[in-house]
Amino acid sequence: MVFICKLYYTHPWLQELDTKILSHHNEDDQHLVVLEETIFYPTGGGQPHDLGTINGVALLDVFEKDGVILHRLEQALQGDSAFCVLDWPRRLDHMQQHSGQHLLSSVFHDTLGYRTESFHLGEEYCSIDISTPVLSAEVHRKVEARVNELIFSSRPVLTYTLRPEEYKKVPLRKIPNRAGDLRIVEIEGLDYSPCSGTHVASTAQIGLVKLVKVEKYKGMTRVYFLCGNRALRDYGRKHQICQDLGSQLSVPETELSARLALELEQKRELEQQLHRLRGELMNFRAGEIVAQGRSPFFLNVPGASIEEGQMLARSILALTNAVVVMDLGERLLLAHNLKTGLDLGQLVKEHAQSLGGKGGGSAGTAQVFFADPSQRSRFLDLLQVLLIGD
Ligand SMILES: [Zn+2]
Repeated sequence: MVFICKLYYTHPWLQELDTKILSHHNEDDQHLVVLEETIFYPTGGGQPHDLGTINGVALLDVFEKDGVILHRLEQALQGDSAFCVLDWPRRLDHMQQHSGQHLLSSVFHDTLGYRTESFHLGEEYCSIDISTPVLSAEVHRKVEARVNELIFSSRPVLTYTLRPEEYKKVPLRKIPNRAGDLRIVEIEGLDYSPCSGTHVASTAQIGLVKLVKVEKYKGMTRVYFLCGNRALRDYGRKHQICQDLGSQLSVPETELSARLALELEQKRELEQQLHRLRGELMNFRAGEIVAQGRSPFFLNVPGASIEEGQMLARSILALTNAVVVMDLGERLLLAHNLKTGLDLGQLVKEHAQSLGGKGGGSAGTAQVFFADPSQRSRFLDLLQVLLIGD
């Protein structure tokens, strides 16, 4: 059996390493090497694998198979020496999120009795699912405050291996479902968890934990959180948004919310005013149209919305008994209030569809859309004949 020294456990802060290549495996476009010792963490325990380079060649994946750690590379390596460089920002990020998760889970467990049922550590987000169907905003704030208090108290994070007879005496947060020795991650005196991940040396190195979203998930609560640099970047992004909004609205950050509520209220009032004025304008136009012509009214109002067209038709029909045919551009709007039994929906169905028109409606009002302007003209000509001849 090959014994590989897992330096990511014993020296988690080591970022470069000179070592030996024990074996090369190049088959099916897969370039794999086994190293004598490694600083690259393989995928496992909910934590994604490390990245970096070996002899300048990009590392694509690291995984453990039958106790051997395999490093998959972009291209094959030559010789038996390996200079390894770890993608440190990625590793530090994983350590901050993973240790932050242990701390957050321990606070939920110790203060409220909620178990952590699952943990996700991804590039997009980190979350835990906890064993409660609801989590109030007040509890959420208290847990966040307690977690950050523990970060600022700078507690050591220890890792060690225990035999079964030893770990039975330790208050593990989660009982392991496998036999044999266990690697324990302890937040000193506070939390004891079986875990194979990499961790910071002190809670202070988590930096900050911010709970960003809480949602119901399969009878549990999914808590999204950010730790360390992720939280700092998120703060920077949100600060920039606040600054931009503040300068656009010309108010300090503390007044943003009140000012936005005021702007939205004014917008609603203006929309109501606009709606009323549009109605008045349509009544005015309708008066002019009725005074200058007679039914059927063929009107050309390109650029008007359907809503405006309908308002104008209603205004005309409120003044007189008539048929209105309105050309809104690509769309025609038809309406009438005659007692002749004229069915506009039926008329569209019978005569417009054969010309490629799409639409329909009721006896009193109908709409039809033509992609081809020449077909629209033909339908309008037909309407002239049908309605004037009526
Ligand atoms: Zn863990």
